[in-house]
Amino acid sequence: MEGFGSFLEKAKKLTDTMGKKANVAIDVSKLRINASQIQGDIKKAYEKLGEIVYKTSVSNTDAHKLIGACISEIDDMYRELEKVNSKIDNIKCLKKCRKCGYTISEDAAFCARCGADMREANDSKDKSDSIFIDEQTPAFKAPIESVINDINEDDEK
Ligand SMILES: [Zn+2]
Repeated sequence: MEGFGSFLEKAKKLTDTMGKKANVAIDVSKLRINASQIQGDIKKAYEKLGEIVYKTSVSNTDAHKLIGACISEIDDMYRELEKVNSKIDNIKCLKKCRKCGYTISEDAAFCARCGADMREANDSKDKSDSIFIDEQTPAFKAPIESVINDINEDDEK
């Protein structure tokens, strides 16, 4: 894990100092490769965990310590993966799809998962909501008492 740690340090220095878009793209792809490497390591650790459980069960050995060590190893890898992923999010200035919540890049026109049109959503979101409310309210504005009074007055005339 030491090689990985120094990679993170380098990546951090890069993201802290860079200003150009080209650098951002390169750095994100590096981090993506790193993230998929960690995912691969997690998968291997799960296989190892399964092997430990199998072998110790067959030989009737106490696997408690081995399993605990393996699980904390997996936890560490998940934490590292989370760090890398949030770093990718920060670099790319990602936003979430309004429909499905999927993370997409700030300048994306469509959601990569559900295909929702992000340009339209950004332009008309607030306006359409307020128009809808304005059209609804007038129907409920007149107090019931005044409506009843109006009816009574009409009857007397
Ligand atoms: Zn979506």
